[in-house]
Amino acid sequence: MQEENIGENLTKVLSTINVTAEACGREPQEVRLVAVSKKFPAEAIRTACQSGQFLFGENYIQELQQKSPLLPAEAKVHFIGHLQSNKAKVAAQLCNMVETVDNARVAAELNRHLTKLGKQLEILVQVNIGKDEKKSGISAEETEPFLEHLQSYSMLSVRGLMTIPPFSSNPEESRHYFRKLKELSVTLQDKDLFCPNKPVELSMGMSHDYTIAIQEGATLVRIGTAIFGKRQQPST
Ligand SMILES: *Cc1c(COP(=O)(O)O)cnc(C)c1O
Repeated sequence: MQEENIGENLTKVLSTINVTAEACGREPQEVRLVAVSKKFPAEAIRTACQSGQFLFGENYIQELQQKSPLLPAEAKVHFIGHLQSNKAKVAAQLCNMVETVDNARVAAELNRHLTKLGKQLEILVQVNIGKDEKKSGISAEETEPFLEHLQSYSMLSVRGLMTIPPFSSNPEESRHYFRKLKELSVTLQDKDLFCPNKPVELSMGMSHDYTIAIQEGATLVRIGTAIFGKRQQPST
């Protein structure tokens, strides 16, 4: 772990985000960095906060539960892992956004717990845009009926879409999938299926392909390795 480099790494990533956004005619503020801190200790998150990064991505509910009490109050967490409905309560309590909603059961459970908490939660729908058997998410075709269904959950604010394209060592291979997610979001926005009066969020792009995601319209990039270094175990 190269914790002493977190601040430096953040500076580099943020600078790349800015340069990439400007080069394609976008406002750099349109692109938010989600620093993916899974498998790194709360200490690493605190270090990032000291460098001005307050938005984090976590994949595992149990890990989030352990770290949560150790985080500064300003830290906000997006849940980006596969969420089981029996973990919806904790996600509802501890997260500022769940980016990976992909089935009615988990949506219903989130809504039920949020109602008890009196808390509104922003969510994204995870789309398996590359039809990758190893990935969660609903198909592009199922997305419209699913968003219609989500309208009935009063505590969920559906802000946009998230995807993880099939992995390729050549990041250019991701471009086509990012473009498809963007196109899908435009179609669904035209049908008023997202939270009104707010820009639609597109969460796409990781350490190896985030510049391409920004070129294709990402508003949230989820970056772990380029900030915190290599994780001990492979990610899921
Ligand atoms: C781990 C993870 C990331 C970050 O991946 P890096 O390659 O380390 O940047 C982003 N999104 C999801 C859903 C992840 O699980």
